[in-house]
Amino acid sequence: MQQIKNFINGEFVEGVEGKYFDKHSPLDNRVIARVSEAGKADVDAAVRAARAALQGKWGSLTTDQRVDLLYGVANEITRRFEDFVAAEMADTGQPRHVMTHAFIPRGAANFKVFADVIKNVPSESFQMSTPDGRGALNYAIRVPKGVVGVISPWNAPFLLMTWKVGPALACGNTVVVKPSEETPLTTTLLGEVMNTVGIPKGVFNVIHGFGPNSAGEFLTQHSLVDAITFTGETRTGTAIMKAAAEGMRDVSFELGGKNAGIVFADADFDEAIEGIFRSSFLNSGQVCLGTERVYVERPIFEHFVQALKAKAEAVKFGRPDDPNANYGPLISNEHRQKVLSYYAKAVAAGATVVTGGGIPNVPADLAEGHWVQPTIWTGLPETASVVREEVFGPCCHIRPFDTEDEVINLANDNDYGLSTTIWTTNLARAHRVAARVEVGITWINSWFLRDLRTAFGGSKQSGIGREGGVHSLEFYTETRNICVKL
Ligand code: NAD
Repeated sequence: MQQIKNFINGEFVEGVEGKYFDKHSPLDNRVIARVSEAGKADVDAAVRAARAALQGKWGSLTTDQRVDLLYGVANEITRRFEDFVAAEMADTGQPRHVMTHAFIPRGAANFKVFADVIKNVPSESFQMSTPDGRGALNYAIRVPKGVVGVISPWNAPFLLMTWKVGPALACGNTVVVKPSEETPLTTTLLGEVMNTVGIPKGVFNVIHGFGPNSAGEFLTQHSLVDAITFTGETRTGTAIMKAAAEGMRDVSFELGGKNAGIVFADADFDEAIEGIFRSSFLNSGQVCLGTERVYVERPIFEHFVQALKAKAEAVKFGRPDDPNANYGPLISNEHRQKVLSYYAKAVAAGATVVTGGGIPNVPADLAEGHWVQPTIWTGLPETASVVREEVFGPCCHIRPFDTEDEVINLANDNDYGLSTTIWTTNLARAHRVAARVEVGITWINSWFLRDLRTAFGGSKQSGIGREGGVHSLEFYTETRNICVKL
C-alpha cells in the first residue's frame, strides 16, 4: 500500500502525531493509499521552513536564476509525464485523455508561463515636479509577499494547485500547499520534482489533511503566513476569509459557480450541442466553469433537448485506461450522496427528467465506485434549488427563452458570477450579451479555452481578485514606491 507523506523543508516526513487517513479510489472505493495527516506542529514546521527559505538562498537568487529553475520544474514534469498522468488518474478516476490533454500539460505550463511573465514585466516610473524646480523620480519595485498558503480542491488537482504555485514561486515567494484530502498524489510527486531540479529546501512544502480543525485551518490561522490563495467552495472561502482577517492577510479566492449557457436559435446547432455537452458533463460535471443552467431560444428548444439527451445517453462508463470508456465517476461517495440528493430534490420540485437521475449500471468490478448518470431536467421554476445552487455534478436544467433581455436577466439572477458560454452566429449580439452578463469569464461559441496570460476570476460570490498573466502579480507581489529627489 502506497504511503503518502508530508513534504517539509525538502524531506518527505510523517506527521508527528503519526495519524494516517485512507485515500479511496473513485472507481471502486478500494483504499489505494494511506496519507499522513499533518497536525499543528507539522504545519508550523512547514510554515517556518518556508519563512527560513525566504531569507536563504531562494531570496538571494536573481530573477533569471529563478526563471531557469522554474523552467526546470516544467521540463521535469514533462519528463515524468506518465507518472503524473497515472497519479492523477488514480486520484480522480477520470479518463486518460482528460489528463493528457488538459490536467498535466497545464500543470507544466503554469511554471513556464509565469516564469515568462515575471521575466518580462515592466515597472512603472514617474517624474514629478517639486517646488524648488529640481523634481523627483518615483519608481516601483515588486517584492514577494512572503509565505503564501495555497489551499486547493480535488476536481482538477494538479492544474489548479500549480496555477497558484507557479506564479507564487515565479514572484519569489515560498509556499505551503494543502491539497484536497481527496487528491494527495500529484502534489506529493511535485515535491520529488522540486528536489530533482534543485529548488532550495523549504521553498515548496506540502501538508496533508482536511479543512476544519485540521491542516487547512491550521495553515490559514498561522501568523507567519502572509497571504492565502484558495480555490474551492464559497462557504469554505468565507471561513478562510475570517481566519485571514486576523493579522490582515491578503486573500485570493476562486470559488463556486452556477454558470449559464445561452444558446440562440441562429447558433451552429451541432457546435452548440457539442459545446454545451462538454461544459455540462466534462470531468463528470465537476468543473467550476461548467454549465448547470442552459437557456435555449424557443424555436430550437425541443430539438436541442433531444440532441443533448442522445449525447448524454451515449457515454461509456469505465476505467481511465479502458479504450472503450470515456466517462468517469464522481470523486467520493460523500460527493455522490450530495449530487444524488439534488437529483431527488429536482424530482420533488416537479422536474421532467429528460435522462439520467440515478446510478448507472456498471461492470461488477466497478459496482462500489462513485458513479452517477449524466442528468438533464426541464420544467423547473428558477426558484428550484437545483437551478439556484451549485450541484457540481453531471447535470443541467434546460429552459426556453424568447428575448435577449429575458435571457440576460435569467443568467444574472444568481448569487454566483463565474462564467457564461454564449452560442450564436450574430456577432453583434454576442458582444452585446457578453458585456451585460455579470461574470468574470465569457466564452462565445466556445468553452474552457484558457490563455494563461488573461485575467481569471469570478464576480459576485464566485471569487475575489483576478489571477493570470500580469494580473497574478497583484496578489503574489507587493509594489513598493521609491522616490528620489533629483
Ligand atoms: P472545498 O471548499 O470543500 O475544499 C477545498 C479545499 O479547502 C480542500 O483542500 C479542503 O480540505 C480545504 N478546506 C475545507 N475547509 C477548510 C477550512 N475551514 N479552512 C481551510 N481549508 C479548508 O471545495 P472542494 O469540494 O474541494 O472543491 C469543489 C469546489 O471548488 C466547488 O465549489 C467548485 O466550484 C470550486 N472550484 C472553483 C474554481 C474556480 O476557479 N473558481 C475551480 C475549481 C473548483
